[in-house]
Amino acid sequence: MEFIKNLTYLDIERFVLDLGYEKFRAKQIWFAIYRNRVNSFEEIQTLPKSLRKELSNNFYINSIVSNRLEKASDGTIKFLFKFKNGSAAESVFIPWDKGLKERKTLCVSSQIGCALACSFCATGKLGLKRNLTPSEIIDQIFECEKIIGTRLTNIVFMGMGEPLQNFRTLVQVLNVLTDEDCKLFSRKNITVSTSGIVPKIYDLAKIERPVKLAISLHSTDEELRKKLMPIAKKWNLKEIREAAINYYRTTKLPITYEYILFDGLNDSEIDAKRLAKFARAVPSKVNIIPFHRIDFVELDDFQKQLKPSSFEKIIQFKNVLKSEGVRAFIRSSSGYEINGACGQLAFANYKQFVQCE
Ligand code: SAH
Ligand code: SF4
Repeated sequence: MEFIKNLTYLDIERFVLDLGYEKFRAKQIWFAIYRNRVNSFEEIQTLPKSLRKELSNNFYINSIVSNRLEKASDGTIKFLFKFKNGSAAESVFIPWDKGLKERKTLCVSSQIGCALACSFCATGKLGLKRNLTPSEIIDQIFECEKIIGTRLTNIVFMGMGEPLQNFRTLVQVLNVLTDEDCKLFSRKNITVSTSGIVPKIYDLAKIERPVKLAISLHSTDEELRKKLMPIAKKWNLKEIREAAINYYRTTKLPITYEYILFDGLNDSEIDAKRLAKFARAVPSKVNIIPFHRIDFVELDDFQKQLKPSSFEKIIQFKNVLKSEGVRAFIRSSSGYEINGACGQLAFANYKQFVQCE
């Protein structure tokens, strides 16, 4: 048995044609899954009974078997989704309501764990357990919508894992989310965050309906960046800058730079000015992220030195960026109290629930 959401539209077309049905049956199946969100193939009354049976014999619809959730007082909800294929991943729902502007964002995971071992990130501590499948990523979104009882408006690939290291799956998922017939999400409301996998940034720029890109920078000092993010030994800042310029030129979408502020390490005025110079290369904004402590995992000596900058320092840093002509925002630490903020996803509270190996 396979999961139907692991199939592309062309795969479904091939499936129905091989069985001797007309091509348009593929569209009916596609709409039933992605628009109408059927829970069983029997519900697709427009299909011949024999085809419904073939589908039921070959495919599952949902790859998630159960969930747990934790709510924070700010409305953030952390989900732990357990998959039929074993193991689990976390997603975080972040509501944002400013009068007329309302956003319902889900931060999805693309992998279980992550191979890149950034020193400040709890997910990195897990190592890479496995890539998630298209179905497992899409189902995080569909299950969340079912639970909260409404449609999401924004998707950010900022949960567990490095999305560009699960590239084929990512592209397949983006094709579904931005599908012009189903209209699940506007491509401008989807953001893929990467630690800087340079060749894949070039590849992502070339997909049919590109989405927004966020690059985790965290330092404009090459040596510090290498300490914070081992992947920086492979691709340096100059290469990242060129990839960002190319991404903007190809897609016409502004770049977001993510920058965690660590006390005394990367939060000086000089740091802010260097970051501004870096960011000005193309239309962009900087998201300043307060460092979220990850004391619940075992830390080495360098990690023990990492401390969040003070609130005053964060404001100062932002003001320097602004005075240098760069749009800068302080990312709210939604879900901090439930270890659901950026970088904290590592099943901290679910040891018994999750069998990850
Ligand atoms: N692997 C991708 C996406 C997942 S991490 C990436 O690294 O960009 C999403 C964001 O959370 C990244 O910007 C990452 O740097 C940030 N992050 C990781 N650990 C964090 C922590 N402890 N505190 C604050 N932000 C963190
Ligand atoms: Fe992986 Fe991103 Fe965490 Fe680094 S910050 S370990 S790339 S998930």
